[in-house]
Amino acid sequence: MLDFDPNQTPFPNGHFIGGQLVNGDGDALEVRRPSDGQIYAELPIASAALVDRAVSNAQAAFQRSDWATGAPRARARIMRRWADLIETHSGELARIEALGSTRPVKDVLAVDIPYAADCLRFFAECADKLGGDVAATRSDQLGLVIGEPYGVVATIAPWNFPITQAVTKIGPALAAGNAVVLKPSEMTPFSALRLAQLAIEAGMPAGIFNIVQGTGSVTGDALCRHPGVGKISFTGSTRTGAAIMTASAESGIKPVTLELGGKSPQLVFADAADLDKVARSIAQSILGNAGQVCIAGSRLIVQRKVQAELLERISQLAQAIRPGPTWAEATSYSPIISAPQMNRIDSIVQNTLGQGGEAFIGGQRLELGAGGAFYAPTVLIGVTSEMEAVREEIFGPVLTVQAFDDEAEGLALAAHPCYGLAAGVYTADLSRALRAVRSIKAGTVWVNRYGRTADYVIPTGGFHSSGIGKDLGRQAVEANMRFKSVLVDFSA
Ligand code: NAD
Repeated sequence: MLDFDPNQTPFPNGHFIGGQLVNGDGDALEVRRPSDGQIYAELPIASAALVDRAVSNAQAAFQRSDWATGAPRARARIMRRWADLIETHSGELARIEALGSTRPVKDVLAVDIPYAADCLRFFAECADKLGGDVAATRSDQLGLVIGEPYGVVATIAPWNFPITQAVTKIGPALAAGNAVVLKPSEMTPFSALRLAQLAIEAGMPAGIFNIVQGTGSVTGDALCRHPGVGKISFTGSTRTGAAIMTASAESGIKPVTLELGGKSPQLVFADAADLDKVARSIAQSILGNAGQVCIAGSRLIVQRKVQAELLERISQLAQAIRPGPTWAEATSYSPIISAPQMNRIDSIVQNTLGQGGEAFIGGQRLELGAGGAFYAPTVLIGVTSEMEAVREEIFGPVLTVQAFDDEAEGLALAAHPCYGLAAGVYTADLSRALRAVRSIKAGTVWVNRYGRTADYVIPTGGFHSSGIGKDLGRQAVEANMRFKSVLVDFSA
């Protein structure tokens, strides 16, 4: 039985600096549970002074511990032990995660924690395999490209998958030999603290992994601008990504990895092999975490011949959702993170309806009576590419539908003026699939499937306004290294 009482669930609070929990030094922020809207904690907001303390601790640990200077295999061993501990403590971690996030406890246990542990193991394995390169030179010269850690990497995470996003950010930075300061989202701040405690238990030197809590404008900004930070790795909205680029530019030109928003198309051709499978894939991509997923497949572009049949199947799947509090085992449909975010979703939907769009299903809030924010699975038809619902990231369970007759029209509808995070293509025709892959400007294109599973083995990252650089894959470890070129002349 996975059900738990949210009022009787212990969780750590505070910042995590130099290997221990640290109390706040200033203002605090009320934190609400999305499932029932209740305030359940006060989160300390790290001031610039506290951020300085965390970065200084990270710098000292980077210089004095053997994390960066010892054998990379040694830190790999600690990271693997850490992954084991995450699995050993999965029940406790899942409760902390489910308590204050949109993630149902069953999904955290079945998906998020195994993913986080395996993802850490993958990055641990990269630690002693990505040292650099030997260049082709004359035989009396030696050309080396040496990978080195940056020192302190500032990592900033969003709220939609707190544990997996934290691991995605910190795993490659640590494997590359850096020390890390993480700022989790102020809406989901606590599970990362338990991860940090387990890292110490696994043998990670104190100060290598630190956490500062707080808002983006105070804590996040101070972290990005700190002169002791060598690189910034951020996941969140495109707007914040732009603010972080500005902060980087104004504080010494720090390299940035930015994983940002999206408005990803799913292009379904009439010859797709199995329409039931396509429907399941599309429903999962927009209903999983109630659409609060960067790669949500939120724009369905479907060949007219199969539109009616596909929409019918998607709406049947949408009827099977089980909304409820994240602490109930039976829940399979997430709450929306906050009341303001639900109001934003609803206002975009109502504007679309006012402009001539139609709700094939949904189009309203779900009233569960417990005070949480829930939104009905919504499929909008009769929309055009100019409408806000089709153009802007909604970050909710809202699928827009546009129909096409021929391939060129479908590809034109799939293109987006600024986002390029991900896309799906469904067809049984290999040549058509590959033409679509070439045409679509997105960092990831899935063919006859959609969404991440254990994809930490391949890089992810957006084009255009969806980001810069790569997370996941060995490329993520390389993104947390800088490469020094060395030329040695040993001619007689
Ligand atoms: P957000 O941009 O509001 O916040 C993300 C993080 O940035 C939070 O920790 C926040 O406190 C911090 N922040 C805010 N302003 C800051 C500033 N000026 N300086 C430094 N830090 C600042 O995003 P969110 O609402 O938490 O997350 C949802 C967004 O994240 C969506 O746009 C989604 O697409 C995106 N996202 C992208 C990916 C990806 O892999 N591309 C993954 C998950 C989420």
